[in-house]
Amino acid sequence: MGRRRRQKVRRRPQRRIPDVYPCPECGNTAVKIEIYRDNKIATVRCGSCSLEMSIDGDKVGPLTEAVDIYGDFIDVFYQSREST
Ligand SMILES: [Zn+2]
Repeated sequence: MGRRRRQKVRRRPQRRIPDVYPCPECGNTAVKIEIYRDNKIATVRCGSCSLEMSIDGDKVGPLTEAVDIYGDFIDVFYQSREST
């Protein structure tokens, strides 16, 4: 039987962009973003300094990417800093 062996099956990573971002608080790249589109909520959390924030409502839609959430998170972070 001359069965041909397939050469190297390449597994392509499933469009999974690294979802870890730099933290504005401690500077470590340890911020994880999780998006729960069904619940229209996203959580941002730093694994290093345990900074945590959730973003919800209109900002979380079917096309929302982690980067978008990160942008909002940064905005909110600096806004809340200014007011204190
Ligand atoms: Zn941090």
